[in-house]
Amino acid sequence: MGRIFNFGAGPSMMPLPVLEQAQRELLDYKGSGMSMLEISHRSPLFEEVNDQAQAHIKELLGMDDSWAVMFMGGGATLQFSMIPMNFLTPGKTAAYAITSTFSEKAIKEAQKVGNAVEIYSSKATGLDRVPRPEELVLPDNCAYLHLTGNCTAEGLEYFEYPDTGDVPLIVDMSSDILSRPIPLDKFSLIYNGAQKNIGPAGVTVVMAKKDFLKGRDPQLPIMMNYETYADHDSTYNTPPVFGIYLVDLMSQWLLDQGGLEKVEQRNIAKAKMVYDVLDAHPDFYKGHAQKDSRSLMNVTFNLPTKDMEAQFVEESKAQGLAGLKGHRAVGGIRASIYNAMPLEGVQALVDFMEDFWKKNR
Ligand code: PMP
Repeated sequence: MGRIFNFGAGPSMMPLPVLEQAQRELLDYKGSGMSMLEISHRSPLFEEVNDQAQAHIKELLGMDDSWAVMFMGGGATLQFSMIPMNFLTPGKTAAYAITSTFSEKAIKEAQKVGNAVEIYSSKATGLDRVPRPEELVLPDNCAYLHLTGNCTAEGLEYFEYPDTGDVPLIVDMSSDILSRPIPLDKFSLIYNGAQKNIGPAGVTVVMAKKDFLKGRDPQLPIMMNYETYADHDSTYNTPPVFGIYLVDLMSQWLLDQGGLEKVEQRNIAKAKMVYDVLDAHPDFYKGHAQKDSRSLMNVTFNLPTKDMEAQFVEESKAQGLAGLKGHRAVGGIRASIYNAMPLEGVQALVDFMEDFWKKNR
């Protein structure tokens, strides 16, 4: 049917059954005679989708009623601004660990709002690892600690989160949300643009402890205040209706896969297939991440020369493997293997890599 394996970092591949269901329901959603693209966000049909999407996400992550799941616009980038506007109050210091070009963007926004400090950075070694918990020492009066849970551009991921005690832990999980179970107790707020693992571009999912959201400054612009979303079920204004509908379908699909333990096993197996090729030919495929920080979602590596990297991208495209060019800030090659990337796609990639190595070593 002409579909290819899309290794792009986001927007990225979605599961075929999800796309097919959206296609089937496109012209007439549940006998309404309308598309989800046309339905009012105040209609019972959408309310059901909104409730269901939240319930699915909570079920997948094991969240109880103390958590709020909110849908917003503005991408993960808007969260870089909203987080300090809501939580970096006068007299406090926000702590950031810099492991990604996205952590750098996040701290820059926080510094426009108040005092935000870098407490860890792997920049000196080219953003090639995430810190161990004991490397993170929090400042006094800490408003929160912000981490980039999966570094999409660099291909790094946290496998152990610190215990921050009373200090709220806020994590950008844009590119690994719902790819594996997480230690929920540690977090106060988690956010992600949906366009990698759980939906299309245009919807941002923010999950937070309800208690953490209470008591925001009422002078905050209404759409910049998390309480607006939590108190109005994300429908204070018109939310990204079609995106939320696809998040609902995606989260249902993840439940159908057997939940996050099952999804994690598959993701570990897929990532291992690609990292095994890097480790088999380390002089040719040079992995970017240090081994203990290797992301299960984005595998990043370089080839001996830039010309060879360009050739790799061109030839892979001809084989139906798209989107393998690295992030513009990092270069090299990046294979994004999110939840929706099937095993066959990863197999096609590693076969191509072996073949390319034989021909060009
Ligand atoms: N954080 C991370 C980890 C990301 O990967 C991205 C997007 N690639 C962003 C933030 C920015 O997301 P958005 O484009 O949704 O604003």
